[in-house]
Order: sequence, then structure tokens, then C-alpha cells
Amino acid sequence: MKNLTLEELNNSYQQRGMKRRKTHNDYVEEVASKAPDMTVLGTYETNKKSILHKHDTCGHIWLLRPDKFINGKRCPKCAAERNILRCKEGNIGDGEYKERLLKTHSGSIISLESYVTISTHILHKHLECERTWYAAPANTIFRKSGCPHCDREGGRYKKRSYNKNGKEFIIQGYEDRGINYLVDILKTPVEQIQTGKLKAIKYFYNNKFYNYYSDILIKSTKTLYEIKSTYTLGLKSDDILRRNQAKAIASREAGYIHKLLVVFVSGDDGVLLLPDNWVTMSLEDVVNLVGDKK
Ligand SMILES: [Zn+2]
Ligand SMILES: [Zn+2]
Repeated sequence: MKNLTLEELNNSYQQRGMKRRKTHNDYVEEVASKAPDMTVLGTYETNKKSILHKHDTCGHIWLLRPDKFINGKRCPKCAAERNILRCKEGNIGDGEYKERLLKTHSGSIISLESYVTISTHILHKHLECERTWYAAPANTIFRKSGCPHCDREGGRYKKRSYNKNGKEFIIQGYEDRGINYLVDILKTPVEQIQTGKLKAIKYFYNNKFYNYYSDILIKSTKTLYEIKSTYTLGLKSDDILRRNQAKAIASREAGYIHKLLVVFVSGDDGVLLLPDNWVTMSLEDVVNLVGDKK
């Protein structure tokens, strides 16, 4: 079939009594009449294909689908600022914040502390990487910012390879520090160390069953090592600590020796092997234990 030019196509549509196909100039005119403070930077192809638009008032440039513009979508940056202002005037509560957080991040990010105001930083957790950070609700729900740890690593909790004494490991997070500790300090032979996707262990927490995958397995002694930073161990959140304890207890009930290595993120290569009774300690006791060694 012959490829028609847009003009030929429009003529053939008109002959058949169909609507003329929208051109780039049509769309530019439509934007100018509906939103004089916006400029179309890209070239219009179809209503469904996102192109760059600019909001002249604030200078923000973003990709927008023409059909969304036609349905009333405007500058997201200005919309976020307006929403933040509105929330400052009529405060939203913790319940509404949790709902909005769920909608904005599809449940991958949860708040671990109660909402105070739209600009008060509270603790959040990224369920995929299990790391936590302090963020203002204005940023998480209106500016749609996600987990800063994962963002720094290129958008996800990246898996990477790590070579230790000639053995290639697939690792995540701080597992390299754990491997170094096992090999250099505990003198574990590298060939005994397994990482990657290990067998799931079921654990019970908050009335639900979850799967737990530990970081490192030493096959010969059936020992599991979990590597945590001071953040992911839960030193600032009883909820995170309790969950970690539940995983360790379930592992022991499944017949494994379970050890927890704490990695100190700031500073040198320091790691701390927790005593086995950490699983029954209170948050305060664990903080004292780990805080002392920092
Ligand atoms: Zn704007
Ligand atoms: Zn993350």
C-alpha cells in the first residue's frame, strides 16, 4: 500500500466524510487558545504520543500526552505547589496521607511515623529495598519523589557482581561488606559462601505470613547471614526491628543458625556481629548495643 502524505490522508478522510486528521499546527493552535502560558516544544504525532511541553510561567519542561492536555492536564510542578499550599491551609490527617502515599507510589513506600504537617519530615520505608529515610509528605505525594537510596543507585536496588578471592558473587546492598567479614575475619572459605536468591523462609508478622530471603548462606554449617545497615536494622523504628527479629526467629525454627551483621554506612569498613539474643531484645537495648560500637 502506498504511504499517503498527511494532506492526502486528510483529503481521503474528508471524501469519506470522516474527521480530518489533526496536524502539529492544529495542536499548537489548540494549546495556544486553551493555555496561552504553555508552549509546545515537541512535534505532535498523535494524541497518545507524549511530547515535550513548557510552562512559560515557571519554566518547567515535561513530557505530556496531547489527549491529557485536552482533558485539562497542566503543569505538574505548579500543581504540586498549589496542592502543598492547600494542605498547609486545611491540614490533611494521617489517614488521608497514608491513602495518598499508597496511590502515588502503588504501595511500595509506606510511612512509619504519624503525619504531622505537609512539610514535617517523618520516617518512610521503601518495601522493595527495605531501607528507610526521612521525607516531607509534600515531597513524597506532590513532588512524587521516591526512595533516595534507590535513586542514587540508578532507580532500583541494583544487583551487581562482586569478586572475592577469585569467586564471582551476585550481590545487593551491603553484601560485599558481609562477604569480606566472613572471609577476612571469620576465615570462611569463599567456596562455602552462597549469595543470590536463596530458599524462602516463611515468617509471621502482624498477623500475616511473608517470605524471607536471607543474604548469605554457608552451606556446610547451615548458617544464614543477614546484612543490615544501622537504618535497615530498624534503630529508628520498632516496626522494622520487630520484623527483622521475626525473620531471624523463623529461620532458627526452620533449622538454620541465623546471624546478623550490622554494617556501619558512614565511616570505615566497620561491621558488628550481633549476639544471638538480639532477637528478643527491646529497641532500646539494640540501640545501646549498636550505638556503643559506632
Ligand atoms: Zn509550572
Ligand atoms: Zn529503595
